[in-house]
Amino acid sequence: MLKLIEETRAVSESELQVNNITPYHVTKSHCEQIVKSGYYDQLKYIVEPSIREFDGPGTLHRSGEHDNTVVPGLQHKYAQNGILLVTERCGSYCRYCLRKRIVGKVSDEIAPDFGRVAQYIARHPETTNVLLSGGDPFVLSTSNLNKTVDHLLPIEHLKSIRLGTKMLAYAPERFDESALSALVQRIHRAGKSPIIIAHFDHVGEISSGAERKVRALRLRNCTPCARSSLKSTMIPEILAATFAKCHEIGVRPYYLFQARPVKGGSHFQVALGRGLEMVACICGTTRIKFPRRWVRSFPDRTSRQPAGWMICPNNEICRTPSSATNMERLRYARRPTKDIQVEPPAAALGRQR
Ligand code: SF4
Repeated sequence: MLKLIEETRAVSESELQVNNITPYHVTKSHCEQIVKSGYYDQLKYIVEPSIREFDGPGTLHRSGEHDNTVVPGLQHKYAQNGILLVTERCGSYCRYCLRKRIVGKVSDEIAPDFGRVAQYIARHPETTNVLLSGGDPFVLSTSNLNKTVDHLLPIEHLKSIRLGTKMLAYAPERFDESALSALVQRIHRAGKSPIIIAHFDHVGEISSGAERKVRALRLRNCTPCARSSLKSTMIPEILAATFAKCHEIGVRPYYLFQARPVKGGSHFQVALGRGLEMVACICGTTRIKFPRRWVRSFPDRTSRQPAGWMICPNNEICRTPSSATNMERLRYARRPTKDIQVEPPAAALGRQR
């Protein structure tokens, strides 16, 4: 029997496999947090399976990640960024995950040879940062993370190591470990910026434990940045409260991601027009420096600019005329502008330390 949000029903193993249903797993601390937060009715959509996962449209490969994979486990889509898949496991599994093809499964997309990854990056001086991703790198032991970092730290042109994680929401106790603190210090001493890309979708996910861990990370020269994704289940005022809370505890708002219609998660997708309304509402209810850009990604190497509109540093929303074709929007989005930056400016990161 599988407990879905809408009903409990008998589901066979083969039905789960045919529909590529992401495993249901939520950490104990997060189960407690979503009830304690008072937001269970909203937070349940993030981690509890829905009947809509079985019959939704879309494909598992929405991002062209295979096309951008340059050595096993390493994607190189934008010149300065490498994305390194280090695990297919996560603390809990988000129902909207864009890597549903990988997470909670056995995947051959995880990097098997970090030496080969490092050789590629060393030959590409334009690559200034690597994002450890997956899956969630913080489900790995710190000793395994150290082994990965061993290969990256000697590369001089790498300026930052980013670690994408939702474990601050799902299992903040993971960040208690003193060895983890040593890892962060090690990256810092090697002359690279250790940056935690903390994935928070809802203010109710930010527990007092998460807040303490964020403050501790900041004391160790580690810059936490917040990443969220727009979802149909989101209430704009709540997302605004989430960014405001991040700002309050010292997590720099970094970016807001437009979810893709990945198979099994397409019911979370927000139409561009609705997304624009949501972002306008968020900008109108916060006075904080908001994410510099709202990114809509395209599955090729050159187009990580938004599809027609984005959040600018002055909180204005720019957009192409509503009559524009998709190609015109794309050309507009690709125009050279100082406002579009893929990396957080080093000066801004410096100010946070
Ligand atoms: S933690 Fe990240 S990788 Fe894992 S299921 Fe959630 S969104 Fe996907």
